[in-house]
Amino acid sequence: MTPEEILAGDREHVWHPYAPLPPAVPPYVVESARGVRLRLADGRELVDGMSSWWAAIHGYRHPVLDAAVVDQLGRMSHVMFGGLTHEPAVRLAGTLVELAPPGLERVFLCDSGSVAVEVAVKMCLQYQRATGRPERHRLGTWRGGYHGDTFHPMSVCDPEGGMHHLWSGVLPRQVFAPAPPGDFDSPVDPAYEAALVDTVERHAHELAAVIVEPVVQGAGGMRFHNPHYLRVLREVTRAHGILLVFDEIATGFGRTGTMFAAEHAGVSPDVLCVGKALTGGYLTLAATLCTAEIARGVSADGVLAHGPTFMGNPLACAVANASIGLLRAGDWAGEVSRVERALRTGLAPLRGAAGVRDVRVLGAIGVVQLDHEVDLPAATAAAVAEGVWLRPFRDLVYTMPPYLTDDADLGRITAGIAAAVAAGRTHRP
Ligand code: PMP
Repeated sequence: MTPEEILAGDREHVWHPYAPLPPAVPPYVVESARGVRLRLADGRELVDGMSSWWAAIHGYRHPVLDAAVVDQLGRMSHVMFGGLTHEPAVRLAGTLVELAPPGLERVFLCDSGSVAVEVAVKMCLQYQRATGRPERHRLGTWRGGYHGDTFHPMSVCDPEGGMHHLWSGVLPRQVFAPAPPGDFDSPVDPAYEAALVDTVERHAHELAAVIVEPVVQGAGGMRFHNPHYLRVLREVTRAHGILLVFDEIATGFGRTGTMFAAEHAGVSPDVLCVGKALTGGYLTLAATLCTAEIARGVSADGVLAHGPTFMGNPLACAVANASIGLLRAGDWAGEVSRVERALRTGLAPLRGAAGVRDVRVLGAIGVVQLDHEVDLPAATAAAVAEGVWLRPFRDLVYTMPPYLTDDADLGRITAGIAAAVAAGRTHRP
């Protein structure tokens, strides 16, 4: 198909994420991707500042990941997981248990982040029922979060700022504490800590679990917080028999500088959701890990009634094993701190620039928050003109590049961000 035919077909039939059909602005046609570059159909090459929604941590066409998929393809691409098992899944489950914070020993494989959160919720509700506390059926969280687009995950997204305010009144009503204040290294706010504890304690009789994104609230606003608040949540939930769920779908596998963001706080949740970078961005796969105690409780009550068709997909598990193998064999922590340094240096000039409210960097995440809604088409086009792929949202122009992005390409990304920020300002309504 020619690029024009692709765009015409796209406009006619294809629904894109978070968009009307047809979309207000046509998408860019990608022909291929290699290393940290996307090649557009018109021949332009863009340095990818997004890692394909934060997943492609090793970039594209990585020889080790490509070989893992090809090798697995030669055995089987898929078999059902009901009544059958296989080495790629068993190996992956064992590796996840080894890597995850201590105590998370049982693994449910599923096919996307939102489903991993659904499974986590189901585990928690079912565990509370199985242990004689069916009245504990609500979830607690803090504002500013994001946990996915299916209905239960939407119910714990930020009810106002998030993308799901349309559904208030339809979604289960959950318990919200205020959003964590400050930044990663801001001092602990004792008043906030007290408010957090108070919210959980007031609702303890009806809470099955508290679910949060540790350290980085991603799609809810790209905000960072002091890991101390996770210790506070760990203590208050444990004291009241409430389960604690960490959604590390965005933060897992090194993005914040530790393998899992929970490590910044030195705490283990009862349930952990991972996805996105799990397969190095190659295939859709996620996992929900839980303690042996939760698995025992749920199983005493019967079964966990969940079983996606593509559960434990062997291709996805094989490439996940290879992606984690690359992390373990290489110096991912050194790479992420190099990216962090480059983002700090490259984004520093934007601090205090007109229209910029805040600039923040943590691990391989760089965020410029504006004082106005970004003009998405103008900002995207400005970054593309600089040879960079970015996907700003709301008032945020940000990057989460692949870890192996070299310093020259990180310079291009920060220049692309500066151009996107300036373009957004020019087109300010
Ligand atoms: N939780 C978090 C923290 C996420 O960032 C996302 C995706 N942005 C999800 C859940 C949902 O994952 P998926 O898009 O794979 O359903």
